[in-house]
Amino acid sequence: MYNIPDYKKGEPIMQIYADNAATTRMSETALAVMTEALKIDFGNPSSLYTIGQKAKEKLEEARAEVAKIINAEPREILFTSGGSEADNQALLTGAMIGKKKGKKHIISSAFEHHAILHTLRKLEKNGFEVTLLPVHENGIVRVDELEAAIREDTCLVTIMTANNEIGTIQPIAEIGEICKSRGVLFHTDAVQAVGHLPIDVKQQNIDMLSASAHKFHGPKGVGFLYARKGILLSNLIEGGAQERGKRAGTENLPGILSMTAALQEAVADMDKNNAHMKKVRDYLIEGLSEIPHSALNGEKEHRLPGNVNFSFEGIEGESILILLDMKGISASSGSACTSGSLDPSHVLLSIGRIHDVAHGSLRLSIGEDITIEEADYIIENVKEVVAHLRSFSPVWRDLTEGKKEFILK
Ligand SMILES: *Cc1c(COP(=O)(O)O)cnc(C)c1O
Repeated sequence: MYNIPDYKKGEPIMQIYADNAATTRMSETALAVMTEALKIDFGNPSSLYTIGQKAKEKLEEARAEVAKIINAEPREILFTSGGSEADNQALLTGAMIGKKKGKKHIISSAFEHHAILHTLRKLEKNGFEVTLLPVHENGIVRVDELEAAIREDTCLVTIMTANNEIGTIQPIAEIGEICKSRGVLFHTDAVQAVGHLPIDVKQQNIDMLSASAHKFHGPKGVGFLYARKGILLSNLIEGGAQERGKRAGTENLPGILSMTAALQEAVADMDKNNAHMKKVRDYLIEGLSEIPHSALNGEKEHRLPGNVNFSFEGIEGESILILLDMKGISASSGSACTSGSLDPSHVLLSIGRIHDVAHGSLRLSIGEDITIEEADYIIENVKEVVAHLRSFSPVWRDLTEGKKEFILK
């Protein structure tokens, strides 16, 4: 439960924040480190005087810390403006390395983040060929299908570690092993996983990995790209020689230091947080399953500890959100409301939900501070809101009158 100052009335509003997959609130530590860095560490790491060199020292300390957490080397970490930038640079890098060898085929999955899918579309326009693997009803890529899709001219495989909408976790280590044995570069968008699941780039055979601070209680506008040594990175931003010449622009030191602190904290508390979140997640799943003609999206087992995603037949996602917001619950829907379009989410379509059903979907991405009492409050209100919306939904009437067949049991 967060106490958020109401910017209109100046009075605090109580909110149960269940949209941590969209962004998280900064931790107290991350906030303190950020504020301190903004005040003290203002020097430019490229400057030669003491203040600049102090900043440079802190920057490199942060790089070493981040590297250690994912079992990488400091020089394999490149700081970026976030997950989208890291994704773009990783894909461009894989494509350019492939192009030099005459390889123009890239493999990904149907339910990647748009930072991946839209970059792939751009590469397709530039002569690359893309295969999107299906993710099936359970929301998981099949390793045998990946293996079968690899061709002589495949230069890159990019599969996310955990999906941002339905939370399903992919068999990353197996995929990494196959890619290694077939001599194909492997990138993973691990934005939903870093700080939430253990990551070991060596053990999992990951060549490139993207992460973003604001998904693990760090600040917005900062993230990192891990690229195994020996991989020649292509630049997205040209200019100065920062980040070993691979990402120009004066380093966002306050952001980087704050991200590092947030990551250290997240990793230190990971087991404890995950055990608690899993308990509340399963409690929510059990409670919401009582709603008739509803279904959990994505399988329950290989799932992020904080993710609950349900479809309710006969209603629309957007209206659930507005009504839940009025009850003090911040959640997200399955439709692509971010893009302002009425298309249902490509993720829900990829697991076989038809348009009508995908429209009535709700994602709750809980944080480590959630309580069982709050979960009870959420269940009670979702039940109420779904029943209310169904009471005047023409689709629901057709379903109950037998004019249309129910899809969800
Ligand atoms: C949030 C997110 C991104 C984008 O990260 P930004 O730092 O917001 O650019 C990319 N991929 C996934 C899976 C995400 O959840």
